[in-house]
Amino acid sequence: MNSLTPPVPPIGIISSPYKEKFGIPRQPGLVTAAHATLTLLPPYNQPETVRGLEGFSHVWVIFVFHATQQQGWKPTVRPPRLGGNARMGVFATRSTFRPNPIGLSVAELRGIQVQGNNITLELGGADLLDGTPVLDIKPYLPYADAIPDARAGFAPEAPAAPLSVHFSALSDEQCRQKQTRLNTDVRQLVEQILRQDPRPSYQQGQQEGRVYAMRLYDFDLRWRYTTDGIEVLELADS
Ligand code: SAM
Repeated sequence: MNSLTPPVPPIGIISSPYKEKFGIPRQPGLVTAAHATLTLLPPYNQPETVRGLEGFSHVWVIFVFHATQQQGWKPTVRPPRLGGNARMGVFATRSTFRPNPIGLSVAELRGIQVQGNNITLELGGADLLDGTPVLDIKPYLPYADAIPDARAGFAPEAPAAPLSVHFSALSDEQCRQKQTRLNTDVRQLVEQILRQDPRPSYQQGQQEGRVYAMRLYDFDLRWRYTTDGIEVLELADS
């Protein structure tokens, strides 16, 4: 097994709007406008493997952090939630840099498409990079998986999304144009991603005016920080 081989063979592959790591939300459910698809690989691409799954609103997706797996792991990491200053044990975090590079995300199951052996699950709100190998899918069971009074250590609630996002006239128009072609609410997607503030913790609260970019679908999203929050500059085709 070479270092790029997942620990067990994938059963599916993710196609998502997120074409690079930068800008992906740090947990699922934070960017509900993100729509991903999970395509089953042979020999699992049989209608039988998903029989009954349509009755579930959410699924667990178990996957490989394939884009970082070569970087190894350390016993402690600096969670962005703590401003990147404090170190916590790797097993107390959801860091991608783990001894076994395995991720776990809950996603809304928005539909299942079966066309012969082409079987895809439509997923909402996932925090997954395009091309992510999926190891397993399990239905989300509220009676067993939801624990309303659970304690959540240093991450007791969803991170605050304090930034307001303004669209330039150009970017507003570009969102409108891309909406039809991509069949997705691009403006809402951009707004939900940016209000989480994708910058690394150590850059937050500074860098006013600096332009950032991330790759979404087939365009480069560019924005800058202002005294009021974020200004979306353009969605540039390339
Ligand atoms: N919800 C998952 C979990 O708890 O295991 C992932 C949490 S991890 C903090 C989320 C980050 O993983 C995203 O912000 C993105 O940067 C990164 N990521 C997503 N898919 C990845 C992949 N296939 N390879 C490496 N990193 C990935």
